[in-house]
Amino acid sequence: GGTLVLAATPIGNVGDASTRLAALLESADLVAAEDTRRLYDLANRLGVRVSGRVVAYHDHNEDHMADPILDQVSDGACALVVSDAGMPTINDPGMSIVRQAIKRGIPVTCAPGPSAVLDALALSGLPTDRFCYEGFLPRRHSERLRHLRSLRNEPRTMVFYETTHRIDQAMEDLEEVFGADRPVALCRELTKDHEQVRRGTLAQIVESLTQDPPRGEMVLVVAGADPDQVRAESPEVLSDQALAVLAK
Ligand code: SAM
Repeated sequence: GGTLVLAATPIGNVGDASTRLAALLESADLVAAEDTRRLYDLANRLGVRVSGRVVAYHDHNEDHMADPILDQVSDGACALVVSDAGMPTINDPGMSIVRQAIKRGIPVTCAPGPSAVLDALALSGLPTDRFCYEGFLPRRHSERLRHLRSLRNEPRTMVFYETTHRIDQAMEDLEEVFGADRPVALCRELTKDHEQVRRGTLAQIVESLTQDPPRGEMVLVVAGADPDQVRAESPEVLSDQALAVLAK
């Protein structure tokens, strides 16, 4: 049989494409691409010719495309899955075909590469030893607040994806829930010419939004809750002393 390969693509700077990605684009029997035009555009920029069959594989057809693609992999094909940018499956198509391949016992591998999550996290200057990826916040204000409140005491660094037209509201909600002093990094246009990282407290970054509205693609990295503060604020969390007593 063949193999299913998830391949990461650049998130801005085409120079981040790996030689492995280029080789796979040339040699794959089948390429499942989120947007076929963008795939050919990437191949052109890398100077490679896509020789395999190209099929559209996106949010709206991924459930019913998975099996026909995997049938070909079973017959020996090497099938490549690419999204518009970054790592497939990370807020992009790919998860359903991976799950289906695992279920069918079909080999899956990954040609890793750029992803905005790790790029932003590393540049944030915030702790990277433990973090959680939160993807996009709910669009509706009430749901967004409820979701953020559930993260109020999250000790790990949190990574959110956000869009230009919701960033102001999202930042205000973050400030309301996490407090003005929580450290944050707003990472824009990563790997592109106008890459920018704004680091500061939530209050400072909210302030900066009015003076200099951020454009382009962005990731928000928010520091986790300070464990001492969580303990002081939530009486339901047992103190070290109480835990020591219970442990006896
Ligand atoms: N699969 C992609 C990845 O691995 O990063 C994420 C795809 S998701 C649909 C698109 C979101 O990722 C954008 O709205 C933005 O939050 C983030 N993103 C992607 N490229 C970015 C970049 N160059 N700079 C900042 N954020 C980026």
